[in-house]
Parts: sequence; C-alpha cells; structure tokens
Amino acid sequence: MESKKNRRGDTYNKKMNRTYINEIKDSMDGKEILLDGWIHEIRDQSKIKFILLRDISGIIQLLSKEGDKFFNEIVKIPRESVVEIKGTVKKSKQAPNGIEVLIKDYKILNEAQTLPIPIVEKGNISTSLSKRLDYRSLDLHSLRTQSIFKIESEITNSFRRYFYENGFIEIQPPCVISSASEGGTELFKVKYFEKDAYLAQSPQLYKQMCVTALEKVTMIVPVWRAEKHNTIRHLNESRQMDIEMAFADEFTVMEQLSKSVQYIIKSVIEKCERELNILNIKLKIPKDKYLTYDETIKLLKKNKLKLEDGDDIPPEGERKLCELFKDTIIFVHDWPLKIKPFYIVPKTLDKNEKISRGFDAIYGGIEISSGGQRVHLVDVLIKQLKDKKLNPDNFKHYINSFRYGATHHAGWSIGLERFTMALLELENIREGTLFPRDRDRLIP
Ligand code: ATP
Ligand code: MG
Repeated sequence: MESKKNRRGDTYNKKMNRTYINEIKDSMDGKEILLDGWIHEIRDQSKIKFILLRDISGIIQLLSKEGDKFFNEIVKIPRESVVEIKGTVKKSKQAPNGIEVLIKDYKILNEAQTLPIPIVEKGNISTSLSKRLDYRSLDLHSLRTQSIFKIESEITNSFRRYFYENGFIEIQPPCVISSASEGGTELFKVKYFEKDAYLAQSPQLYKQMCVTALEKVTMIVPVWRAEKHNTIRHLNESRQMDIEMAFADEFTVMEQLSKSVQYIIKSVIEKCERELNILNIKLKIPKDKYLTYDETIKLLKKNKLKLEDGDDIPPEGERKLCELFKDTIIFVHDWPLKIKPFYIVPKTLDKNEKISRGFDAIYGGIEISSGGQRVHLVDVLIKQLKDKKLNPDNFKHYINSFRYGATHHAGWSIGLERFTMALLELENIREGTLFPRDRDRLIP
C-alpha cells in the first residue's frame, strides 16, 4: 500500500472498518486497526516521531520509528489535516492513556491550509471570541468548544427524556406569528405574502392553547427577540426549553423545574466526564431554595445592593443570591403583578391584588428561567391585557381558547444557551451558541 496524498478522500481498504479512538482497548494489543481523524499535534524527535490523532471520541498517540519509510514525511503534515492511519495497537507505559498505535501506513485525505486562528487547548485562549465565531467551524476543532456542544446535546436530550418519561407530550408550535403577541416592541418583522408577520418571541400563547386539552406539554424551540442591547447574557435568537401543565399552580411547576434540572445535571455528570474535565468544571446536583420577592429584596438590600421595592432583580442581585446559596436553584416567587407579563395570574381574585403567581429561577449566578401560573379566566385575561396597554382584539384566538373548558395551568421556560452558560461558567452566552445571532452578527 502506498502512502500519498489522496485528494478524492478515498478510504484505504474497504474491507477494514474504522475504529473510533475511544474503542481502542488494552485487549487489542497487537491488533491492526484503521483510524480516521485530524492531526492534533506533532512531536518531532530525532529517533521517534509522535502524532496525536483526534476524532470526536478522543485523542490517541501514534508513533513512527526511525527506519519507517515515511518517518520524515509525517511530521510535515499540517495541523488539522484529515488523515487515515493504518496501524498496530501497542500497550505502552509511556503513552498518555497506556496505549498507542504504531503507524504502518497513512494517507492524507485532505490537507489543511494555514489556520486563520490557532486551536489552543491549554492556558489562555488568545484569539478574541468574535474572531473565533468568524471561523466557528474551525473553532469547533478545539476540544474546549467540542466539549461545550457535546454537553449542550446532553442537556437537550436529558430534558426531553425527563419530560417524555413523565408523560409530557412534545409539541411543535409555529415560529411565524401574526401581530398578536406578547407586545410589539421586541419583535422581528417578516414579510408574509401580502401581510406583515413576526418571528415568535416565545411559544407562550401556543403552549397555553394546547395545554388545556393535552394537559402536559413540552417543547424546545427557537425564539427571536429584537432587543437592541448587546450583552454577554442576551442573544437575538435563542432556544427555549419549555413546559406547560394543566391543573398546576406555580409551586407544582417549580418542583418540576427543580427535578428536571437535577436530572439534567446528573446526566451530564454521568455521561460527560471527559468534557467536564476538559472544561475544568466540577458539577454538583443542586438543592433548591424558595424565597418570596419581598424576602429577596430585603436580603439583597441587607447585602448592600441599591434596590427599590418593585424593581426587577438586577444581574448583581442574581450573582449575590448565588453566592449566598451555593449549588442551589433559587426560586423567587410572589412577584409584583406589575412587573410580570399579562398572562401571569394574580395571587387571588381580589380586585386590588398586587402579587402574582409568577416566579424566576436563578442558578449559576444568572436567571435561567421564568414561569408561573397563568390566567385561564377570560375576564381576568382581558383586564390584564388592557392594564398592559395591549389590545385584546389582537389576541382573539388566544382568548377564545379559554372559553370552552380551560383548566388552570402553569409552566416555565429555560433558555438553553443561558442554562449552558450558567452550568459551564461561560463568560459569554455566545460560547454556548453555535452560530450566534446578535446585534452585530448575522454570519456565519
Ligand atoms: P432577562 O431578564 O434575563 O433578560 P427575560 O426575563 O427577559 O430574561 P424570559 O422572557 O423570562 O426572559 O425568557 C425565559 C428565559 O429565556 C430566561 O429566563 C432566559 O433563560 C432565556 N432568555 C431570555 N431572553 C434571552 C435572550 N435575549 N437571549 C438568550 N436567552 C434568553
Ligand atoms: Mg424572565
């Protein structure tokens, strides 16, 4: 077999199956295998040459000894080139995982050009996040970036698993909506034939329209918010993990949030050990803590935060709460009705009620979720829409859905990228977003 560049990307030997790096075991000592992957690192010593080969499952040390016919060639392969290796498994005390592969032959399937950004695995990443995002597909070659998205995959999968196993029905609400929405200011307008339409800022109205019949619904959906600010915690396109439950109040769904987040974190700990190590993150299953809004404001004032009653909790407040209650999901409930959306139900039906059944969940120094019990009584709904200066005519179908046998219900929404950011202590939400959409970025 001849070693040469193979521009068509043909594989070596159709009879030999590819082995993934994490499938190589001690018991395979002496076995000939075929590996496909990327040149991760080359160590050029005088009598021995090492290549670290990477695939999505791991990294393995390959070696070539003086006298091999390609001994001098292989060290010249540019980093990140795609190669196919035929080699023999060798147990070795010196090798990083106690095992290495002696190269028998190799093919360059596709040679990488000069890399526009370095792929740095250890120490400080000197390239700016913005430049890394410009070359996101190359940035995905780094173990750190791969680890974030492997963990994010475990988050969405375990979220689905938890709710599916607890009898929830997964729904697919629409993403293009008419002008009727939660309030017009934060929407992206799109042309929809002769009409104007908008990208959904949340699946809120649709999940409520389903839950009064389907009882327990869940969804993971993209949402768009045309907020002009550019912060480390906001995107203009993000994903939400949502639930809505019939015959439930805010406490029922806070308990569901707590249990599902604990389940997700347990799954990440069990299945993403390698990725957590790469990111140097030690996770604990969080406890939960319940505080009323008033208790929270008092506590924050006691801790020297400048706040007025009736204020939203600022980012420093969220960070402070998480310092005070470590490894805890903090539920702040009993919010003033005034600062919660129109669909959040008042605590009582008293006309002068000022407290709502809305809540926020704070974890890892940041708000990860908002939720609450919703309004299912048409007259209350119309009043609350008007109180928020919204026109009930624009919500006709939504309001009508509560006229024919609507149950009381509650739900919440966790921002996927926000949760990933909190869990993995990311400095910027864009780190946990494959191709972020923000005020300045629409490409790639
Ligand atoms: P915040 O106060 O943090 O700006 P919010 O209260 O406006 O968020 P909600 O409408 O409660 O947001 O949205 C539910 C969840 O979706 C939030 O708790 C958060 O996890 C996430 N989220 C909200 N806005 C954004 C955004 N612009 N980018 C990314 N995630 C977001
Ligand atoms: Mg919120």
